[in-house]
Amino acid sequence: MTTNDKISRRKFLQAGSAAVAVTACPGLNAADTVAAAEFPGINRLQRKAALPAARGARVVIVGGGWSGLTLAKYLRRFNPAFDVLLIDRQSAFVSFPVSNAWLADQVELDFLSHSFFDAANNHDYYFMQATVLGFDRQSRRVYTERGTVDYEYLVLAPGIEYDYPRIGVDDIEAQNLLFHRYPGGFVSSSELLTIKRKIHRFNGGTFLLNVPNGDYRCAAAPYERACMIAAVFKQRRVRARILLLDMNSDIKIKKAGFSRAFTDVYGDYIEYLPSSEISAVDIENRRIETDFDEYDFDDAIIYPPVRASRLIEQAGIDNPEDPQKAPATEPFKYHLLDDERVYVTGDSRSQPFSKGGHTAHSEAQYVAEVIAAHALGREVSWRSPQTMCFSAVDIDPLRAMSIITYYKYNRDSGLFAFDRTHLIDRWDVQGGQASLAWAEGMYRDMFYQS
Ligand SMILES: Cc1cc2nc3c(=O)[nH]c(=O)nc-3n(C[C@H](O)[C@H](O)[C@H](O)COP(=O)(O)OP(=O)(O)OC[C@H]3O[C@@H](n4cnc5c(N)ncnc54)[C@H](O)[C@@H]3O)c2cc1C
Repeated sequence: MTTNDKISRRKFLQAGSAAVAVTACPGLNAADTVAAAEFPGINRLQRKAALPAARGARVVIVGGGWSGLTLAKYLRRFNPAFDVLLIDRQSAFVSFPVSNAWLADQVELDFLSHSFFDAANNHDYYFMQATVLGFDRQSRRVYTERGTVDYEYLVLAPGIEYDYPRIGVDDIEAQNLLFHRYPGGFVSSSELLTIKRKIHRFNGGTFLLNVPNGDYRCAAAPYERACMIAAVFKQRRVRARILLLDMNSDIKIKKAGFSRAFTDVYGDYIEYLPSSEISAVDIENRRIETDFDEYDFDDAIIYPPVRASRLIEQAGIDNPEDPQKAPATEPFKYHLLDDERVYVTGDSRSQPFSKGGHTAHSEAQYVAEVIAAHALGREVSWRSPQTMCFSAVDIDPLRAMSIITYYKYNRDSGLFAFDRTHLIDRWDVQGGQASLAWAEGMYRDMFYQS
């Protein structure tokens, strides 16, 4: 900062304009501006984040999940002249895929946990742990809790959030209470730790789980989780009933396999109830209401329908007609309709591809190529993401089934649909081993292998 900068800045603050300076930061509202006036430290949000100087056109990626990690690696592969910065609010990566098997002690937490530093060191990009507060597309600037970062390209891969009002929980305090007491286990790793503790300490009674409706994250995972929890209860000889309330009219995926598992393997534990649209939750009395019934429970995992990250809505780029609040993007190129510098990928995307880690990983390799091509004035033809999903059904040894699918675009309807699909809905030990080998391969690609 030059002396002139300092003088003009001091004058600016003396003039009582601190509040105005901070409102320029997207994501902060009027209440925050009062705090800024009383607590000038907030003004650091307006300063540049302390980062190494960019070595080329900077691509900023928001979110170090399956999508962001893959993009960070492949962007530099397709265009080594890019300077890539990956930002995530978490200090470490914990995998959701295979976490259901971890709940049933089939892998260690080490298997799921990986360091962002290893990924960045091995793939020659920079990682910054920070929460992104917003961004300004005109000045091409991202605002984080550690200061601002300028970009040439911005990729938003911040994943999903729960949409509690869609199960009748509108009050913010009640949403927080529900999230802490009965976390869904689909957004953050603390939820998973709480869930594991719950199921290994459950002493008997009704344990309630649900499957949300809409385009929720990982179609098979709630059914898989019911199997893994039943396996734990069976092993611990707990007298428990798992009430699986499905907000859909039927099992959404691997139907024959899961139906068989619910009756043949876990008939004494799992009670599956389709078309159970949750309309209210009485947290204190541990009671859930559906359109037709009420259910009491002793403990629960409540997984509400999901929506794209609020970062997208707060930036005013969401499609208001979309219940998922995803942005309006070019369906083959992933950029905002009016901005070829901003891309949205992974589970926040608007395309109806399955919300899965494998989908996000294969899609991100393609989007990295699209962005690299844009910078070089080239074009890339569209290719479908691939969805691959293993589901654990039984334990010791782990037994799993799987599905692989692609997507095609129907020009007449203007919609994407499933294309070639390969389903194995008989679980076995080979499937269990393949599921772990698949995950290891994914972690190797995102974190270790150059
Ligand atoms: C129990 C479970 C089992 C699953 N099983 C499978 C499976 O077998 N196979 C499969 O393919 N998929 C599976 N999935 C789905 C898979 O985990 C997701 O589809 C995948 O994580 C999506 O990747 P993403 O990068 O879009 O989002 P995420 O992986 O959620 O990453 C988003 C990242 O953005 C960060 N972030 C968000 N907002 C901000 C912000 N404002 N500032 C900074 N950082 C931010 C978050 O911290 C997070 O790290 C499973 C999911 C669950 C929960």
